[in-house]
Amino acid sequence: MTEMRTQLFINGTWTEARSSLRSALFNPATGEQIATVPVGGTEDARAAIEAAYAAFPGWSRTAAEERSVILRRIYDLIVANADRLAEIMTLEQGKPVKEAKGEVLWGADFFLWYSEEAKRINGEIIPSSRPTQRILVQRQPIGVVAAITPWNFPSSMITRKVAPALAAGCTVVVKPAPETPLSAIALFEIFEQAGLPAGVANIVVGDAQQIGREFLDNDKVRKISFTGSTPVGKFLLEQSAKQVKKVSLELGGHAPFIVFPDADLEAAAEGLLYNKFQNNGQTCICANRIFVHETIEAEFTELFAKKLREVTVGNGMSDVNVGPLIHERALAKVDGHVRDALAKGAKLVEGGARLAGGEYESGHYYAPTLLTGVTPDMDVFREETFGPVAPFITFRTEDEVVAMANDTPFGLASYLYTRDLATTMRVADRLEYGMVGINESALGYVQAPFGGIKQSGMGREGGQRGVDDFVEIKYLNLNF
Ligand code: NAP
Repeated sequence: MTEMRTQLFINGTWTEARSSLRSALFNPATGEQIATVPVGGTEDARAAIEAAYAAFPGWSRTAAEERSVILRRIYDLIVANADRLAEIMTLEQGKPVKEAKGEVLWGADFFLWYSEEAKRINGEIIPSSRPTQRILVQRQPIGVVAAITPWNFPSSMITRKVAPALAAGCTVVVKPAPETPLSAIALFEIFEQAGLPAGVANIVVGDAQQIGREFLDNDKVRKISFTGSTPVGKFLLEQSAKQVKKVSLELGGHAPFIVFPDADLEAAAEGLLYNKFQNNGQTCICANRIFVHETIEAEFTELFAKKLREVTVGNGMSDVNVGPLIHERALAKVDGHVRDALAKGAKLVEGGARLAGGEYESGHYYAPTLLTGVTPDMDVFREETFGPVAPFITFRTEDEVVAMANDTPFGLASYLYTRDLATTMRVADRLEYGMVGINESALGYVQAPFGGIKQSGMGREGGQRGVDDFVEIKYLNLNF
């Protein structure tokens, strides 16, 4: 692999942190140190915000066509560099390199889609109640956007924010997760190559408390766009109230996956396998509670267990289905959920332990796990596990399963498998979730409005709605 850049990018310049400090970054598959990165703080964040603020008047006034061309160039460059970006991601995040490339290309698609959408951020003209007036509605870029992103999708969670923000005419400062700064920095190399003017996109890696505080306190930041855990999202929302900043939040999920007795069980098992083991269960939309009708439980459990036994686990650089978990904390949480469920009466069908020894010795590996007999008193029923554990819960009636599915403060993704349209419409209407997959376990499509309700967040990313969070509505009353 070619040399990886490991610096901050502020105002079009690669730079060290003011602190001159660096922190080490480790490969979750092997425990080896792969790089060091600067520890940015308050002053770096401030410099990045100043740069974004200074660049805003110029960038927001460029013709949409011009922004579109640069966004399209970024797309082309990400695609051309996809193999390298995927390897960087696997090294720091652990997901298999094939899956990492899939994420890189999906992330690139946001630039393609928003390169086109940049030209269609239209307004409207509304007839007034007074004949001499016309009401003009414009959508104007909100200003400087501070984007904070997690480690589980190190590339696409950035592009899903930055592409619509730039399309709208905003400028951005990104703080990526400390576990995965290299994928983020590699994207910024591409932004530079694509000819994005200095200051339009800046990246600060480092101390979350200091950087986050500056994002919140600096009145030049007009918008906070956050993807991550619900507790941090709540904190940012609360703190943003002081300056009434616009906030959008993509937070944690606790997805129900409902299998009705008339479902195509093979398709449901295959869909569940993909959904549950994508990124080793470390996704906000992965099935966390699998509700299986009592009449098909034995058959579906057997079908899924057979597929699960074929899942291969190992270093993502080799040809495996799943890699390691991100760190020891993640592994301890997964194991804690499994122990708690077993202590409260769940049955272990597959897995249920850390993988150790041999190639697994220095990484954070957990065996793909299937639990049955899960009940609402167990942690797996209540909390996001964020790991390779499939907890099965049986149900008898539609009312019962809808009540259990909604029995959570989260409301991001949900899934149901049935061949019956009436069941589909009734249940989809009643599920308190921002997204419902119906005989479909993938939900991340660039054209679609991705996002949650309840404590899973606010705002939508992707599609036409994805621009809404980066624009303000201004109305002009014309009287002639
Ligand atoms: P996290 O702990 O909330 O961290 C997310 C980001 O926030 C990191 O960059 C983190 O940096 C930063 N952060 C933490 N405290 C901060 C503060 N006070 N000010 C500013 N930034 C702060 O979440 P995570 O563990 O990385 O990600 C997993 C979570 O993300 C899961 O709950 C998952 O469901 C959710 N997620 C949601 C979506 C969605 O679209 N809804 C997508 C992906 C992931 P530090 O680590 O340095 O503190």
